[in-house]
Amino acid sequence: MAGTESQINPFETAKQQVDIVADLIGLDGGLRDVLKHPKRELTVNFPVRMDDGTYRVYTGHRVQYNMARGPCKGGIRYHPQVTLDEVRALAAWMTWKCAVVNIPYGGAKGGVICDPKHMSKGELERMTRRYASEISAFIGPEMDIPAPDVYTDSQTMAWIMDTYSMQKGYSVPGVVTGKPISLGGSEGRGEATGRGCAYVIREASKHAGVHVKNGTVAVQGFGNAGSVAANILYDEQGAKIVAISDSKGGIYRADGMNPHAVEAHKAKTGSVVGFPGAKAISNEEILETKADILIPAALENQITAKNAGKIQAKIVAEAANGPTLPAADTVLYEKKITVLPDILANAGGVTVSYFEWAQDIQGFYWTLDEVNQRLERVMVRSYDAVHKVATERHVHNRTAAYVLAIQRVVDAVKLRGIYP
Ligand code: NAD
Repeated sequence: MAGTESQINPFETAKQQVDIVADLIGLDGGLRDVLKHPKRELTVNFPVRMDDGTYRVYTGHRVQYNMARGPCKGGIRYHPQVTLDEVRALAAWMTWKCAVVNIPYGGAKGGVICDPKHMSKGELERMTRRYASEISAFIGPEMDIPAPDVYTDSQTMAWIMDTYSMQKGYSVPGVVTGKPISLGGSEGRGEATGRGCAYVIREASKHAGVHVKNGTVAVQGFGNAGSVAANILYDEQGAKIVAISDSKGGIYRADGMNPHAVEAHKAKTGSVVGFPGAKAISNEEILETKADILIPAALENQITAKNAGKIQAKIVAEAANGPTLPAADTVLYEKKITVLPDILANAGGVTVSYFEWAQDIQGFYWTLDEVNQRLERVMVRSYDAVHKVATERHVHNRTAAYVLAIQRVVDAVKLRGIYP
């Protein structure tokens, strides 16, 4: 991340986004203010016994941004740089993401300030259980359902589910999503983000003058989201994956690569770099590669006002959260590049989290085919709705997605009325 860009307060950005859309849809001051404030925030400071016998106090947050449309949903992040404002912004974005795909959730987010890379598994388990216990009055299947985020995973969710269930005295699988399948997780959750992204790319290609079959694809970031999107575009839609990168660098081959083979190479060597038959390229070059479709699937703030003019893709599908800076958006729009914004393009993950919760509550589990078919329906319907707003209002897809999402939240707030 570039220095000054990384210092932008994300919650200020989130509030500015609300203002832009509020101006567009003519939202009055009072409702605008509702959307610019988190509903509830909890900060907890709690001790954890470390492996060497000492105690250390950790600080965690859980922010419930808006629950007008349903229980709050959002991940838990473990990172040394977690701040309350970052958690607020992420909770706001979860609210809009759930609304854009029209699943019956509000938005939330949590975080603990810690350095998980330097903690043992035992320390992580004790910290997770104590954090879960501290926020337990605040979460629950009908109130707020956490999920994994940066440096938390299905094991973290299993510990939270167990801690919450121990306090209740019975198993409550619906308190978190992203759990192991053996504990009530859903089939298809692991690949849902990449799969959902591949579905919206397919739909957008119909309007963007791109043929996915034999079309060329560049993927920045080859982790969960990026590798799954590449595999599905290759296996199911016949795309040619010409460029791939990870944190160590990138590879390019004009006549395409089998992404499964690249995955196997990465599993063996630790990186995509050095894949036989491919040319080395940098992570900056991958964004500017000649390809029909570009999938940023790594970090935020990658497409800037500086490099946006050099992007050659016809579709940019944001599997990552926040890869494009606002100034770059205008450049891409003027270049008639179709941007599939993060709150739409990576919403497959939260959609299948919703399916997981629905299955847990029913105690009735679906097959992988059922999950994928339902995911496809949600992603196609959501892309169509965003495209319609973009066309009618002559705005780019990101603004259209925000208009759609914020309008849905506003409708719910208005219909419910202001209590008392
Ligand atoms: P991941 O950790 O599995 O993969 C991240 C990948 O990015 C790795 O291959 C890593 O090597 C690469 N990377 C790191 N720094 C890089 C750099 N400077 N240049 C190029 N590549 C770099 O993470 P993930 O779950 O795939 O998440 C990736 C993005 O997708 C994040 O922005 C995340 O918020 C977003 N996202 C993920 C999900 C999900 O369900 N996994 C859901 C929604 C959004």
